[in-house]
Amino acid sequence: MEGLAIDVEGFRAAPARVSAGIQAVVARWRPAPALAGSVGLHCVACAAALVAPEQATWALATIAGNHLVLGAAGLWPRSSMLGRNVTRLPAEAAARREVAITFDDGPHPQHTPRVLDMLQAHGARATFFCVAQAARAHPELVREIVRRGHGVENHSLRHRATFALHSLRGYRHELMAAQEIIAGITGRAPRFFRAPAGLRNPLLDPALQSLGLTLVSWTRRGFDARDGNAATVARRLLRGLAPGDILVLHDGHAARTRRGTPVSLEVLPRVLDALAQAALTPVALHETMPA
Ligand SMILES: [Zn+2]
Repeated sequence: MEGLAIDVEGFRAAPARVSAGIQAVVARWRPAPALAGSVGLHCVACAAALVAPEQATWALATIAGNHLVLGAAGLWPRSSMLGRNVTRLPAEAAARREVAITFDDGPHPQHTPRVLDMLQAHGARATFFCVAQAARAHPELVREIVRRGHGVENHSLRHRATFALHSLRGYRHELMAAQEIIAGITGRAPRFFRAPAGLRNPLLDPALQSLGLTLVSWTRRGFDARDGNAATVARRLLRGLAPGDILVLHDGHAARTRRGTPVSLEVLPRVLDALAQAALTPVALHETMPA
C-alpha cells in the first residue's frame, strides 16, 4: 500500500479549532492498510445512507462494527493493524543471534542502577523506555544509562492510564514533550516509542509518524509489573526464546517478590544466563535497528 495517503481536502475545510499543525500531521500521514480501508468504509456507508436512507441503520451498524474492530486492535499491543509496530528485531539482527532486552517505566533511583550493574557484569546492552517525567527527576541516572552504552527511548511524558483515549493533539503533546526532555538530557532524540501498557488508538500512528518515531512492542513479556513470582516471570520471557526476540521487563513499577525485592531484579540474571547459554547477544535497539 506504498503511496496510499488520505485525501486531506476534507480536513482543510474542518472547523477552525483543528489547528494548522494538526492538519499538517494528517496530511503527511501514511495510514496502515486497515485504517485506509476503514476511511473508505466510512465513505461508502455515508454514501449508501444518503442514496438509500432506508439503509441508514445498516450503514451505522457497519461503521459501529468498524470502530469496534479498530478499538480492539488498539487493546492488542502486538497488533500492526493501526500502523507499524515492531514486535521482533529485523531478520539481519536475528541472523546475528541478537536479542533485545527492554526496560519500561524507569528510571528508578534505586532499581535502575542495580539493573545497570547486572547488565555490565554480563557485558549486555539494553534499551530503557523511560517515562519523561521520571527522566526529568533523575537526569544524571539517564546520562549514566547512556554512558554505559544502552539506549534511552520514549515511553510517554506521564504514563497515564488514559493514554489510549488521547486525541491527536494529546498524543502529539505527550510524545513531543517527552522527546524534548529526553533529548535535552542525553543529547539524542529517541527513535522508538512504546505505549504505556501497549494500549493506543488509531490517532497514535499519525503522531508517531510526524515525529519520526517507531512503535516498538515486544515478542514476549513477563508481566513483571503485576506478578511477583520470579520463576513464572522468567518462564514467560524465556519460553520459546529465539534470535530476534524483544523482551520486556520493568525497572520502574516492578512487582515485589515475597522478600520484597523488585521481581525484575531477580529475573534479569536468569534471563542473561539463558541468553548466554543459547549463544544469544543482548543488544540495544538503536544500535541494531537501521535508522
Ligand atoms: Zn509502562
